[in-house]
Amino acid sequence: MIIKDTVCPFCGCLCDDIEVTVEDGKIVATDNACTLGTSKFLGDHRMKSPIRRVGKEWKEISYDEAIDYTVDMLLDADRPLLYGWSGTHGEAQCVGVHMAELLKGVIDNTSSVCHGPSILAIQEVGHPGCTLGQVKNRADIIIYWGCNPIDAHPRHLSRYTRYANGFFLENSFRDRKVIVVDVRKSQTTNLADEFVQIKPGCDYAVLSALRAIVRGKGDDLPRTVGGVQREQLFRIVDLCKKAKFGAVYFGLGLTMTAGKYKNIRNAIELVDELNRHTKFTISAMRGHYNVYGSNEVNTWMTGYPFGIDFSRGIAFYNPGETTAVDILARKECDACLIVASDPAAHFPRPCIEHLAEIPVVQIDPYANATTAFCDVQIPVGITGIDAAGTAYRMDGVPIRTKKVLETAYPSDEEILGSVYARIQEVRQP
Ligand code: SF4
Repeated sequence: MIIKDTVCPFCGCLCDDIEVTVEDGKIVATDNACTLGTSKFLGDHRMKSPIRRVGKEWKEISYDEAIDYTVDMLLDADRPLLYGWSGTHGEAQCVGVHMAELLKGVIDNTSSVCHGPSILAIQEVGHPGCTLGQVKNRADIIIYWGCNPIDAHPRHLSRYTRYANGFFLENSFRDRKVIVVDVRKSQTTNLADEFVQIKPGCDYAVLSALRAIVRGKGDDLPRTVGGVQREQLFRIVDLCKKAKFGAVYFGLGLTMTAGKYKNIRNAIELVDELNRHTKFTISAMRGHYNVYGSNEVNTWMTGYPFGIDFSRGIAFYNPGETTAVDILARKECDACLIVASDPAAHFPRPCIEHLAEIPVVQIDPYANATTAFCDVQIPVGITGIDAAGTAYRMDGVPIRTKKVLETAYPSDEEILGSVYARIQEVRQP
């Protein structure tokens, strides 16, 4: 059986044109997916049942026992941390927010260690963004800054930018210009019309120089800014001003380098300056397929996009204080529920050391680096494969992902719903 128009639940592109071939209850082939998407659909090695650590061994337990353990752990905790959420659907994220509020705990998602600074900048100066469809059909110049979509979002270029046909453009395939700004060469720089190699940590200075040129005040610039020749900076501004519609996409190479959210604020303000001459937009290259959704769900339920602390009885948000890395590094939380993420693979060592000292439950289909620090792991269906749900694409468009396989795995929402119902019995009798 071939299932058409399936949504790929891997990266923020959420490609919705995947054809999945299912035979004997297994996915055996995909069409249109990139290698990352294909490996997610064809991935094997799923955990068969929940496991619990007993001494130095793992013991298989039932779903009921795993839910019992999770409920007891969360009810016993004074300051539970509920972390992850970017690899699951919006319906499960909703349950997570309700649960954190009832427990007076902290809920944080993976954007606090990726595009959190981008969100802080957007909160300050706004977001002149647009949908990927607008870029595909209208943009005649694309700037990738601090990102490498060929590796991280492989179909971004073929569906929306470099190789996409634009409805309102003639010869977009040939004429669309691509500028890549990065500190080193990558596969994406190889196909750029203009590669701007900047010195590490100099993004803010280069953005400021470009803004000065756009405003007609570039005459006093030095010969090079951040390792970039003055002539190249003028050439880029000239290309941008002559464009009819430009789109800037930025990644963690801009967000997580020196300057952090100030870099993004400066980039948004450059786009603002360019909008006095032509039409320009800017957007983040969101990584996990529903990390944008975790910000959306948290914001419309609490007013804040990540790092929300309910210990005061109200939603309180202060990145750097209420975010997972900071809470773990200060050894503040006394239990942790991890959903659809792998903090042990990314967090600093002091955070992982604290995870090793407190009770931890992970809800995830696969064993990963965090499994080594768990007391219980509960395998679930993969949203977009054996569970349906809503996810937000990197441009903020909500898309319904399909269930293409029938399996016995419960969804994240079902497991979290059972845990939440049991907590309600105690805390809201
Ligand atoms: Fe999946 Fe992203 Fe590849 Fe599209 S680009 S097929 S969403 S991994």
